[in-house]
Amino acid sequence: MVISNEIKKPKSLCMDAVVYDINETAPHLKRISLQHELLKGIGPLAPGVHFKVFIPSTKGGQVILPDMSTGRALWSDEKTKPYIRTYTVRNLDRLTGILDVEFVLHGDNGPASAWAGSASIGDSLGIGIKLSGKIRQPSDWYLFAGDETALPAISAILEDLSAETTGVAYLEVETEADIVDINNKSAIDIHWLIRNGVQPENSDLILNSVKDLVVPEASSKSRYAWIAGEENMVRVMRKYAAEHLGLYREELHATVYWKAGFSEEDYHQLRRTE
Ligand SMILES: Cc1cc2nc3c(=O)[nH]c(=O)nc-3n(C[C@H](O)[C@H](O)[C@H](O)COP(=O)(O)OP(=O)(O)OC[C@H]3O[C@@H](n4cnc5c(N)ncnc54)[C@H](O)[C@@H]3O)c2cc1C
Repeated sequence: MVISNEIKKPKSLCMDAVVYDINETAPHLKRISLQHELLKGIGPLAPGVHFKVFIPSTKGGQVILPDMSTGRALWSDEKTKPYIRTYTVRNLDRLTGILDVEFVLHGDNGPASAWAGSASIGDSLGIGIKLSGKIRQPSDWYLFAGDETALPAISAILEDLSAETTGVAYLEVETEADIVDINNKSAIDIHWLIRNGVQPENSDLILNSVKDLVVPEASSKSRYAWIAGEENMVRVMRKYAAEHLGLYREELHATVYWKAGFSEEDYHQLRRTE
């Protein structure tokens, strides 16, 4: 047996980040900037990449981080284990070590939304983030479809695309006031869809809009559909994109970001038992 003395570089870092700045981006979206010296060593990251937040299980409780020495997150005590939630890197400034996250404020029924709703400058939040990641070659044409939870990722990807990139983005939000500025320099048309009180899981705004879409031939352009949000929309859109828009499997990224009536851990549990 060959024993290597090489010390394996960790693939992820966990840290106790501090709230540096807070911006009420829209009535249901709050941008929170988190700072930590270790964030200066992260990246480059693909736009729209996700990471984990660790929220203390008791209000005002101490941030507890996992032991990552084996390469996997190990929690010393199940009783003090924080809530673990998934969020998107809206922006990472590697010079200052400041990471911006945009939290959808959906009420106090979820620990992450509740934490973001009452966060103040100087508060702590545990985070776990990959040191780097694969960066996809951009496509010529895109279909984006997402609700508020996907807005940070779609905005980050859009802002990274060149002026020659074409396509369409269907972005669904609760009210007109929830429309946010996106520094979109590409030729992708953004369509805002307003739910106006319809529950996200019952909304068919995105599906109805996509029915008018003309998708370029695969022989003329490289194409990519990026879909994320509530489970029902993602499931319906994944099927529609494959069966009616003629997009191939490798041209399709469709990810459930949340499911109505299920916390993140309950949704993972459901997936495991399906
Ligand atoms: C890869 C990835 C990236 C993500 N990026 C972001 C991001 O940048 N910003 C962001 O806000 N979210 C993002 N999400 C979604 C976020 O992780 C979920 O919304 C998560 O459930 C929020 O945790 P919570 O503690 O607030 O609520 P949970 O404790 O998980 O859920 C409590 C209740 O709230 C409901 N709920 C959860 N989210 C919403 C919502 N958006 N609207 C209405 N009800 C909801 C649940 O169905 C449940 O009934 C991302 C998810 C993934 C998988």
